[in-house]
Amino acid sequence: MLLPYAMFPEIERTLVTKEQIATRIKEMANEIVRDLEEDLAKDGDSRLDEDRVIIIPIMTGAMIFVADLIRQLPVKLSLGLTSVRSYPGASISSKGAHLESDLPDNLEGKHVIVLDDILDSGQTLALVKAIILKQKPASLRLGVMLDKQTTRTIDVKVDYTGFEIPDEFVVGYGLDYDGYYRNHPEIVILNQDAIPKR
Ligand code: 5GP
Ligand code: MG
Repeated sequence: MLLPYAMFPEIERTLVTKEQIATRIKEMANEIVRDLEEDLAKDGDSRLDEDRVIIIPIMTGAMIFVADLIRQLPVKLSLGLTSVRSYPGASISSKGAHLESDLPDNLEGKHVIVLDDILDSGQTLALVKAIILKQKPASLRLGVMLDKQTTRTIDVKVDYTGFEIPDEFVVGYGLDYDGYYRNHPEIVILNQDAIPKR
């Protein structure tokens, strides 16, 4: 018999439950649709099926969040994956953001939404935002599942936030520690004995 994640001794407690996540994802999707409707109306087109919306998930952490969110968006959209590394391997604090893969290069005139798992120092989203703006998108919005407001080193404004959380290292729902726990369905905190001290 496999031991379910909930019984792992290194998982100390749940911070955000799957029910809370599911509810918030639907609300965020409604916020996004409302904004896109406004944008497309400004462009003189009220249809949400225009092929001008592109979602950019920052991999790998955003994959579960984005998979759930886009299935609540009744909009014709494309995905453009990118990868940024800031917490290499077993680190639990940001080591500065580095682009690990190219960003899509067809963003001019598009409505772009960049989605990340968690906003911490702000380095990741600041980096991606600066590069995308050079391509002159019609609009650029940023969204995160989690926001640790206390740890910012760069001021980045996000348009969509799932939950504000305290400055604790979290895993689950796409977030990893040393590559593991991404498939845990809730956002959880690891036991301090399981991770080295900061
Ligand atoms: P920032 O560049 O804003 O400091 O950090 C954002 C990135 O750091 C996220 O995309 C995520 O990969 C990682 N990160 C920040 N806080 C946490 C955390 O509490 N847990 C995990 N697993 N990753 C985090
Ligand atoms: Mg990341």
